[in-house]
Amino acid sequence: MEEKVTQTPEKEVYSRNFIETIIDKDLEDGKVKEVCTRFPPEPNGYLHIGHAKSILLNYGLAKQYNGVFHMRFDDTNPTKEKTEFVESILKDIQWLGADWGEHLYFASDYFDKMYEGAVKLIKKGKAFVCELTPEQIREYRGTFDQPGKESPYRNRSIEENLDLFERMKNGEFEDGSIVLRAKIDMASPNINMRDPVIYRVAHLHHHNTGDKWCIYPMYDFAHPIEDAEENITHSICTLEFEDHRPLYDWVVRELEYPQPPQQIEFAKLYLKNVVTGKRYIKKLVEEGTVDGWDDPRLVSIAALRRRGFTPESIQKFIELCGVAKANSAVDYAMLEYCIREDLKLKAARVMGIVDPIKLVIDNYPEDQSEMLVAPNNQENEAMGTREISFSKELYIEREDFMIEPPRKYFRMFPGNEVRLMHAYFVKCTSYETDENGNVTVIHGTYDPASKGGNSPDGRKVKGTIHWVDAKTAIPCECRLYENLIDEEKGVYNEDGSMNINPNSLTVAHAFVEKYLEDAQAYDKFQFVRNGFFCVDAKDSKPGALVFNRIVSLKSSFKLPK
Ligand code: ATP
Ligand code: MG
Repeated sequence: MEEKVTQTPEKEVYSRNFIETIIDKDLEDGKVKEVCTRFPPEPNGYLHIGHAKSILLNYGLAKQYNGVFHMRFDDTNPTKEKTEFVESILKDIQWLGADWGEHLYFASDYFDKMYEGAVKLIKKGKAFVCELTPEQIREYRGTFDQPGKESPYRNRSIEENLDLFERMKNGEFEDGSIVLRAKIDMASPNINMRDPVIYRVAHLHHHNTGDKWCIYPMYDFAHPIEDAEENITHSICTLEFEDHRPLYDWVVRELEYPQPPQQIEFAKLYLKNVVTGKRYIKKLVEEGTVDGWDDPRLVSIAALRRRGFTPESIQKFIELCGVAKANSAVDYAMLEYCIREDLKLKAARVMGIVDPIKLVIDNYPEDQSEMLVAPNNQENEAMGTREISFSKELYIEREDFMIEPPRKYFRMFPGNEVRLMHAYFVKCTSYETDENGNVTVIHGTYDPASKGGNSPDGRKVKGTIHWVDAKTAIPCECRLYENLIDEEKGVYNEDGSMNINPNSLTVAHAFVEKYLEDAQAYDKFQFVRNGFFCVDAKDSKPGALVFNRIVSLKSSFKLPK
């Protein structure tokens, strides 16, 4: 594959990442014929943006090399797994654009193979049944600078081990009283190699295999078998498994798989000041800090979709993040950049007033109204035009009016003339206040000759503001978001609690132009000067629309060079 290295994403970034380099070599050497990758989530929660990286990386590599991508649930741990999560995970992966075709697997389908593998190890003298208590096993394991101590059960005969392991399987032992361990090396500098436990007794119901098993394999034993059984060529995982690689290799070697898979580690995706860990997202959900796994302030895939992110924006983001061997954290602003770029030409640009105040055009006839024409997207003519109604009473944004403006404020203030977008020039003549001095109504006069917002005689106005017609505008709810986390304090405290921003959600009672009346779940718009908004899929109803602000329009974010 050709190598393209450029600086800006507009020109497409294609530099080989280190995983591609490994795969290139494996193909060249003939070590690998057809690339096969997998995404192996544990069905114990919803997927988040970090998983999106792993999914798109694995799927992308399979596609790039004309290989195969497997979707596999790593469901070897029956206590935490739920069918609800299986369904949500599949939905999220599909939505992200990764396609597993017919390759959907469950690790629990290999329980028989794993059992056979364990028996094979026993027969080779490479595994033994151990009756040390969990505390003793921990104690015997040693420390980083002290070798471990061998279990007194280590030298049991093969026959005795086979008999005990079978009795473990038959349910003759209590949970936690006995385990099967690999016989490797208690003096290994790598603690993972010090006779690790590979099977435990647990009388638990499994969502897939029911009550068939009361022994379950440990992750480090199960995972390489799953990969090898599926002929995975490159088993890509995150950095914390680097120290487990010798054990991974040991398992596939001792079980004599002819084409053993290769484990490759890459750095996890972290976002600055954002909660990504499944465990922490779960905590926020359970403590009621957020309204479910798909609360638009979270970065679970379900939440990002509900907030209004598109698969394309997430793909772009992951591409920009790159693949690295060292941990680092990315700015959330980069994700925002990606959705703005994606929606810029796709979303209709409409008018919505998030914080409304009434503007009365005193010289406009009382019972008249008219239709004006506005382009749907000035940068994408193919999106056509729409009609918007105009009449005597309008709503404008409260912050577009000031009684005593500072210098360089070009919006509405008494005596000033502004352009109402796509409509007319309007001059502010007066305003009304309530008993507390708050402005309640603004008055102005329009110039009929400036229809369409064009200057009738070459005179200039410096400010253009948006508006909606009070007669036809649709009242709706707009949810405005800030970071869920208090950025000044950082995400986590020492006790595992999180610093929550009390202002992460603001509910605004807004008005949008009538054009949006029939907007459906997930429809996305730019509300000019306000941001990109998406119809909330959970709470929006016909006649009671709810919009989530995906992102504001302004950004200080600059693409890294
Ligand atoms: P979490 O750490 O959020 O609880 P996990 O690693 O326990 O996630 P799994 O379901 O075990 O979740 O992960 C499935 C795959 O996704 C694994 O290969 C894992 O390495 C990868 N993955 C998880 N989090 C990230 C991340 N932040 N960046 C990249 N890959 C990730
Ligand atoms: Mg996990």
